[in-house]
Amino acid sequence: MTDDTCQSPARALLERAIAEGLTLGDCLQAFAAGAGDERRYADFARARLARDGAIEIDDPAVVCQADEPGAYVLAWLWVDAAEIWDGPTDSDGAPCRCLNHYRCDNCEQGWTDQWSCACNDSCPSCGAEIEPFDTTELDLAGRPTKNNMPEQPAPTSDAKSQIAERMADLIVHVRRQQGECTDDDLRAAAFTDEQIASCGPLARGFAAVELGDPSLQP
Ligand SMILES: [Zn+2]
Repeated sequence: MTDDTCQSPARALLERAIAEGLTLGDCLQAFAAGAGDERRYADFARARLARDGAIEIDDPAVVCQADEPGAYVLAWLWVDAAEIWDGPTDSDGAPCRCLNHYRCDNCEQGWTDQWSCACNDSCPSCGAEIEPFDTTELDLAGRPTKNNMPEQPAPTSDAKSQIAERMADLIVHVRRQQGECTDDDLRAAAFTDEQIASCGPLARGFAAVELGDPSLQP
């Protein structure tokens, strides 16, 4: 158990204020040093230690005076998503965090590809330029996050096989990333329990063929 039961009245007020829309920025302003020695420390840090786009210091800034003669000045360090991304990047170096699902209108070929946006891709069979029919966003570890597509309608057998193909693409991707793909991974990509129950076995069968891994066969 945490000490929730004996939290201070101020903390309870804070939680209420957050629920009412208080932001971190409001708090930083409330605690920022507007005058005196703390202001001098902050001004020095902003003028001499900050670096545009890499180390940013608010004005006014929060300052914490130490026992030693000196003070800590609160700063913001920039971390670029590309720095902590191991996956593919586009020509500008941006992480390819969109797992796009395509199906060719010309030749029915289905495929997935990872891009930095939900962009068109060339059909690997006939070369036609095709828009993605769905996009799964990946987090910085390459795992699927929320799927922005609207809920799938109740599956007809055709829709069911489309869902299974989409699910199979995801299973193949996740298995290649992290070895296995659980139902939780499918839920994280916005597949419903109903879809997992009705299309999961078919999808794992498709994925087994794609991966050449008979252990996935239902
Ligand atoms: Zn095609």
